Amino acid sequence: MTALFTMSDHNANDILFERARAVIPGGVNSPVRAFRAVGGTPRFVQRAQGAYFWDAAGQRYIDYIGSWGPMILGHGHPAVVEAVQRAVTDGFSFGAPTEREIELAEAILALLPSMEMVRLVSSGTEAAMSALRLARGATDRKYIIKFEGCYHGHADALLVKAGSGLATFGNPTSAGVPPEVVQHTLVLEYNNIAQLEEAFTLHGHEIAGLMIEAIAGNMNFVRAGSDFAKRCRELCTQHGALLIFDEVMTGFRVGLHGAQGVLGIRPDLTVLGKVIGGGMPLAAFGGPRAIMEQLAPLGPVYQAGTLSGNPVATACGLATLKEIAKPGFYEALSQKTRSLVEGLKAAAAAEGQPFSADSEGGMFGFFLLNELPQNYAEVMTTDSARFNMLFHGLLERGVYIAPALYEAGFVSAAHSDEDIAATIEAARQIFSKAAPPK
Ligand SMILES: *Cc1c(COP(=O)(O)O)cnc(C)c1O
Repeated sequence: MTALFTMSDHNANDILFERARAVIPGGVNSPVRAFRAVGGTPRFVQRAQGAYFWDAAGQRYIDYIGSWGPMILGHGHPAVVEAVQRAVTDGFSFGAPTEREIELAEAILALLPSMEMVRLVSSGTEAAMSALRLARGATDRKYIIKFEGCYHGHADALLVKAGSGLATFGNPTSAGVPPEVVQHTLVLEYNNIAQLEEAFTLHGHEIAGLMIEAIAGNMNFVRAGSDFAKRCRELCTQHGALLIFDEVMTGFRVGLHGAQGVLGIRPDLTVLGKVIGGGMPLAAFGGPRAIMEQLAPLGPVYQAGTLSGNPVATACGLATLKEIAKPGFYEALSQKTRSLVEGLKAAAAAEGQPFSADSEGGMFGFFLLNELPQNYAEVMTTDSARFNMLFHGLLERGVYIAPALYEAGFVSAAHSDEDIAATIEAARQIFSKAAPPK
């Protein structure tokens, strides 16, 4: 049942969206893809190569989503494609251990010294959910702390005023999550040291873990301040709670040693995903041996997965890690990302538009605000109509950024100077037509 349209059909995306909506809720398999925040028709991707993808109508886009982070090498990197093709030939899945799982575990541990052991799973949601269970099991405590605007996947206990996706629909929590299930989840304001201290004063002896995106990428791009991050570490240590860094987005994206490397803070547990799978379903969580040995089959904390450590996914992840570990990789990537961000800032300034932006490694965020926001509430003061105008203006000019103002952006090693320059020029054109700020 192939679609009855040709590559030149400019309605191709609309036709596909209509078909999709008949059989898939909202026409998408993950909510933010639906363009609900910005309006319009989602682009159905036909293929991708390097820094670009092409939609069903044959339109090319410079891709600043990169599958929401994994495609750090760009699409279809030859070494990765070759590794995956070789792996596929040897078999898709065995439900029995393989040497490649050890190799990937060793590669991850070598780059993230806070981890002594790691378990591989298939999605970031699964990894965060499992890390949470492990923290509770290892400490024999119930409470967890999370921060408003941080997203840790869609496990019940973590869907408390979660950031990305849900925020679009204005639901502070998801239906289907009974209040009893989240009654031990404390939601605090990001970068608010006083509130953090108060939570530990009140509940310190009951807190199993504090989970945080130390560079948050699900409320656009917001860094944990250095004092705030240090205070998280100190209070967890002081009260016997585990500090859990959710590095699903930042791991191998902001630098070779993750957000923990950037901040110089050693978490107890680390949650990984996205880049470690190189675009295949693969995620992980890990930490010190004594904690990780609480997991089944050694310990009492149960966790399992039919496709965990999948041989094709591990091949893809390993090949990706091998490329990013090459000397100079992150220097070049950071430089590229910085030139994009600086160029956008200059374009906005030249047209008198409010704009602020930040980046680390291959991850960036920009705001139609004069100052960089420090928490979710500040991010949400962005004028969404202005953001939507910028989004659609860029889309029309062949530049694809996240279809929501509370998402981060991603640059890959495949983005060329010309791609960056074309993006800045497209933004400049849009800024020049925009109404002056209110
Ligand atoms: C993407 C993401 C997740 C969820 O990962 P999935 O693979 O989508 O389940 C969890 N935490 C963070 C920080 C993420 O960015």
